[in-house]
Amino acid sequence: MKVCRNMRQTASKPAVRRTEAVVWVRKKEAAARYGLSFLQIQYACSRQVVRCTQYMVDEEGLRAKLEAVRAAPKRWIYSTTAAKKYGDTRTQIALAHVKGLLRGFSMKTGRGWRGFLIAVEDLEANLERIKALPRYTEAERAARRLYARRWRMRKKLTFFCPRCGAEVKPPRGSKALESAVRGQLTPEEARRLVVIAHYRHVHTAYEDDMYSSKWLREGEELEELEIT
Ligand SMILES: [Zn+2]
Repeated sequence: MKVCRNMRQTASKPAVRRTEAVVWVRKKEAAARYGLSFLQIQYACSRQVVRCTQYMVDEEGLRAKLEAVRAAPKRWIYSTTAAKKYGDTRTQIALAHVKGLLRGFSMKTGRGWRGFLIAVEDLEANLERIKALPRYTEAERAARRLYARRWRMRKKLTFFCPRCGAEVKPPRGSKALESAVRGQLTPEEARRLVVIAHYRHVHTAYEDDMYSSKWLREGEELEELEIT
């Protein structure tokens, strides 16, 4: 039975596969054997200079392209680390990579996410040109403008309560704040709503009374009544 199955498998496979017997070797082992860094091999894999799996590399292929692999940068840095260290933004780094100023490749990290590695020598050689690139995309700029507007409006809507002496800020996601940020309410109107909300929540029993059946008109059920 076993023989039959093996024969069937051999017959169904194209003959060319036999000639493609690849000697796979662990990337770390190959790096040590040929005086390369692990990341040089990873870069060669990403450029498809040599055939690779996640952990292995085709040793014959690597030997054939050894000079090219050895010429690749030895030192690499995560783009997030580079952005912090060199004062660039991740947008600048991504743009520089697209423009060919930075060699880079993405790699699976141990923690299950993908990191983007860039060549330190390219980064240092082109630092001035990278810094001259736009720091943010149009979408990022719009998001930052909105964030700044919300921050300023939050300050405008903050007040000192004469009753409890607390500094009261509009809560996160406050409808009054968002309406003011979008220009649907003036800051004065929004502030009034924030003051009323604070008084209602902190200085009245409104929250408890909300569920009182005394609110009901004839024929109404409690669930139907929506009090905000
Ligand atoms: Zn108060």
